Amino acid sequence: MRVYKNEFERLKLVESFVKSRFPYFGVNKKQEITRLLYEISKRENIPPLRIIEKEGEGDYESLKKRLLKKRYPFASLQSEPLTPHLPKIELKPSFRRTLQNRKFYPRNIYIEKKAAGSFLARRLKTLFPKARFREIGLLKEYVRTHSPFGVKEYNRRQDTLFIVNENYDFFKNCPCTCQALNCGYHIFNLGFGCIYECDYCFLQGYANVPGIILTANMDKFFDEFKVYKRNGLRLGTGEFSDSLALDEVSGYSPALVDFFREQKGVTFEFKTKSVKIGNLLKVKASRNIVVSWSLNPQKIIAENEFFTPSLNERLEAAAECARAGYRVGFHFDPIIHFDGWEKEYALVIESLFAKIAPKDIAWISLGTFRFSPGLKQVIERRFPQNTILNEELLLGFDNKLRYPYALRYRIYEKMLSLLRHHSKELNVYLCMEEPRMWKELKVGRLELRCP
Ligand code: SF4
Repeated sequence: MRVYKNEFERLKLVESFVKSRFPYFGVNKKQEITRLLYEISKRENIPPLRIIEKEGEGDYESLKKRLLKKRYPFASLQSEPLTPHLPKIELKPSFRRTLQNRKFYPRNIYIEKKAAGSFLARRLKTLFPKARFREIGLLKEYVRTHSPFGVKEYNRRQDTLFIVNENYDFFKNCPCTCQALNCGYHIFNLGFGCIYECDYCFLQGYANVPGIILTANMDKFFDEFKVYKRNGLRLGTGEFSDSLALDEVSGYSPALVDFFREQKGVTFEFKTKSVKIGNLLKVKASRNIVVSWSLNPQKIIAENEFFTPSLNERLEAAAECARAGYRVGFHFDPIIHFDGWEKEYALVIESLFAKIAPKDIAWISLGTFRFSPGLKQVIERRFPQNTILNEELLLGFDNKLRYPYALRYRIYEKMLSLLRHHSKELNVYLCMEEPRMWKELKVGRLELRCP
């Protein structure tokens, strides 16, 4: 049985408990103790008084030490320093993302003047005749002159589409994360934003535009690519959006396939959780085009990846793309740690190889859950009931919140052994991991077997 009706009530009670029990603590000390008591109470579903009764009081330093040990039991036993991130907790019902799905139908479509005559603008007028269309100068100016952007605006992003022309930022190296061994990926910067609601999504802490952006001048990307192109290049559109979730709206994929089919020595990737593969199946497939899916156990999909297709639907779509002649890829990213994770991930891997032959798999990536510190409060505000933050997430080598090294190592080791049991030939790489992790696990750099 839940001790509190909801997280707002829990936070209120923890705050008033700390205020009355530790009136002599300063603001920052109160904030840290509140955070620790709140997180322990949330994870174990017990009231703060019970925690204090068990742990004892004492001065601030010793109390904090004991609470940290309770909050991070696994990490406390490791030799690495304990590096928690304990910002103020701010929960408000108005920040919460209500989880009612509806068919994507933007109310407002803003089109940059230069994109007004584009094929995409005409297409959207046909697809969404009831939307309110407005012409704007530049998106940059629109954002500057409109109200500040925050969690509430992000929650409403599906109401608004921006159609823009890209002028500068066509391709770039994936920034990866500092001090990690990168996988050499490049980003094809075609639009921004997503219609799904994964509670861990980094876009919710990164977006600064109150809508979803689609780019109208794809021809210009193809022109620019002549200069950017190099042998062995691997690039894709799935960094700042899901590559296929809005493909029926944008109609991007046939042009991308037709273009990259002719780019010998280059591998193009559509990275998705969707099953919108209709456009891909209408054009001639190619082995230098990889359609890849992010995979997680169905429990994680149901509890954390709201509005996305099920595991089975994703694998069915992958099998169909492989039959059509594409290579497929899989991203176990983010891998989420929870009670029973080993069994659940083993089942996913079993289901994957029941449907897909190893020869059709271009690559598989592994990356445990990690995120910039600022995202912690955004996840809490939008999804106060989340369970992903209950795990032990500490500031790691790149100042991102991650599971402790020993736990990540254990997860990767298990995943690698499950995957290699099915094929020794798989091209597996780690995403955003430090060099010692690659080395200790004996994972080689991604080999691009470009067809
Ligand atoms: S599918 Fe990807 S981009 Fe979309 S919400 Fe989920 S994590 Fe974010």
